Amino acid sequence: MIRRPRRLRLTPQIRDLVSEISLNVTDLIYPIFVIDGETEDIPSMPNIKRYSLNDLPDALKEIVSVGVKSVLFFGIPKEKDETGSGAYDDNGIVQRAVRLTKEIYPDLIVITDICLCEYTSHGHCGILENSVVSNDQTLPLLAKAAISCVRAGADIIAPSDMMDGRVGVIRNSLDKEGFQNIPIMSYSVKYSSSFYGPFRDAANSAPSFGDRKSYQMDYRNKKEALIETQLDIDEGADIIMVKPALPYLDIAKTISDTFSVPLAIYHVSGEYSMIKAAAQNGWIDEKSVVLESLTAMKRAGAKMIITYYAVEAAHWLKGE
Ligand SMILES: [Zn+2]
Repeated sequence: MIRRPRRLRLTPQIRDLVSEISLNVTDLIYPIFVIDGETEDIPSMPNIKRYSLNDLPDALKEIVSVGVKSVLFFGIPKEKDETGSGAYDDNGIVQRAVRLTKEIYPDLIVITDICLCEYTSHGHCGILENSVVSNDQTLPLLAKAAISCVRAGADIIAPSDMMDGRVGVIRNSLDKEGFQNIPIMSYSVKYSSSFYGPFRDAANSAPSFGDRKSYQMDYRNKKEALIETQLDIDEGADIIMVKPALPYLDIAKTISDTFSVPLAIYHVSGEYSMIKAAAQNGWIDEKSVVLESLTAMKRAGAKMIITYYAVEAAHWLKGE
């Protein structure tokens, strides 16, 4: 007798019936860049913009209308300084964007990225001491940024800086301010990756000297991902994250198999731009490549996916 797995692949209806993974619009988180200035295109990320606060409501309208339920804000301030003070300014660009967004769409889940690199004149994720990023001097500033974003209305705080101990410090600070119910989505496993290139254009956040290898992870390491995740969970992370996505699905799978905390995967700017570029050249079918990629992330164990394709994928999932 021949075993015939093809029986369950013969029609779309049967394939749907037996499918193990489904990609839902509620899994998707859309990153949004907001700028203290005029709306600008981002040349290395077609279709993605830096939105002014004036144009943000129209952008949000489309996002919400296709059913996307969560957004993740990044800010580009007018002025940058040594200590990244724009990150924890109650009138900073992200804080104003959050207030505006929650006013119009109170049910939209607003997540704010917490880091200093978009706000520091040197582009590093923490403050410098003799040209080295000082872990412990950076921690209180990250906590200040988190509190400032929550006061503005953020629903979830997402520290991306990769300083040691930051989840615990942020958790304690939030609790002291009475924000016990605000979850922390920690960029637990963030590799130092060349796939972030277009993001740095988008956020004007490329480091002015050196690189981020002294705080982001070395892509040769896997066990280190377990240590980072365990530490973040012990310090109070409610959601953990692996970043980037496709080249790191082995890591995502291991993290998902090892820990029960919900896992987010960040499908990063370089991954987005590669698909866009190939699609614009007519070399691949964009819709099917994107849906296949996002489904693969879920298969690896992601509960949620941060992707610049969220809005387009939401259209496609609706059959549009
Ligand atoms: Zn950073």
